Amino acid sequence: MAGVKLTKVKKRYGAVEVLHGIDLDIRPGEFVVFVGPSGCGKSTLLRVIAGLEDISAGTLEIDGRVVNEATPKERGIAMVFQSYALYPHMTVYDNMAFGLTLEKNGSKAEIDKRVREAAKILQIEPYLDRLPKALSGGQRQRVAIGRAITRNPKVFLFDEPLSNLDAALRVQTRIEIARLHEKMHGTTMIYVTHDQVEAMTLADRIVVLNKGHVEQVGAPLKLYADPDNLFVAQFIGSPAMNILPATLEPTGDAIRARIGSGQSVALPGLAGSSLQGGKGHLGVRPEDLALTDEANALLSGTVTLVEPLGEVTLVYVDVGAAEPIVAKLPGAVHLDRGAAIRLKAEADKIRLFGEDGRAVRTARRLAA
Ligand code: ADP
Ligand code: MG
Repeated sequence: MAGVKLTKVKKRYGAVEVLHGIDLDIRPGEFVVFVGPSGCGKSTLLRVIAGLEDISAGTLEIDGRVVNEATPKERGIAMVFQSYALYPHMTVYDNMAFGLTLEKNGSKAEIDKRVREAAKILQIEPYLDRLPKALSGGQRQRVAIGRAITRNPKVFLFDEPLSNLDAALRVQTRIEIARLHEKMHGTTMIYVTHDQVEAMTLADRIVVLNKGHVEQVGAPLKLYADPDNLFVAQFIGSPAMNILPATLEPTGDAIRARIGSGQSVALPGLAGSSLQGGKGHLGVRPEDLALTDEANALLSGTVTLVEPLGEVTLVYVDVGAAEPIVAKLPGAVHLDRGAAIRLKAEADKIRLFGEDGRAVRTARRLAA
């Protein structure tokens, strides 16, 4: 098992800097997922780690050794891409053995053993003699993963490996990748995706990237429950957290947040935060909102759209802010467009952010 450590890693293409000094400490055996909007630098970061791109500044260590100048092969990594990149004229077996044979990486018998072991792990033994065209998309991607396994890498890198699969196969292959991590006795894995569910379910820790910076690193549920800033708050979770402009006033042992339309909520337990008061934002997740009466309302407004999804109903509500907010209510909810409704949320589900977008932390949450 090998750790991967990045210290102030920068990447420039000519005059354009796309990674602005990334610090990351990936532990041996960890499953780390990079998420972020398209173009934020996920693939570039992965390619820098793989050695497919030079580092412009900073230090990259794998297994405690600086590898800035090492070739991809010397780094002991294997990479799986979105496009499976199999050789169409070679059987599954030959596709998996080819790289090893080419690199004279082991005797014929050893290579055979490694191919068969990988095929067993991925349950593709029955297809070893087939050509890729006789496989489904999911099976092809398993061959590509198998080819990576035969190299016995210290670190696996995956760049959106499931993006070309249909929804059902994506779920199945995702579960297989989770199992693979266990079967490989915790080989370090770094996985890029833009899929929330993949990130939440696979990751030991998620790295949220934005415009070539790291916004936050943490366990999936930690990022969900306690985002550092507005960007992470709105990136993790679907539909995204509702954010409303608010005026924040410290009042003794609480903070009172007043939202545009004059409604206000006192949040106890925020005592001891460094907040000076002033402009900020109130955040509440769609799933933390519930219908209520006037006395308990956090938000009041009119229904603009109802989306029944079966197990939940998404209700969009105009509360006088720039955008409608959305509530995710359990089951089937019958509401007409234009209906006046009131919504509440438990105080401990409400998040506050300062004008700079940074989370206002409670003493309790900081201690957690
Ligand atoms: P992501 O994988 O998060 O969608 P990328 O890492 O592919 O993002 O790209 C990050 C940024 O770097 C983008 O703005 C992209 O246009 C730029 N970029 C990527 N590769 C190159 C390249 N070879 N030359 C110039 N710019 C590049
Ligand atoms: Mg990419």
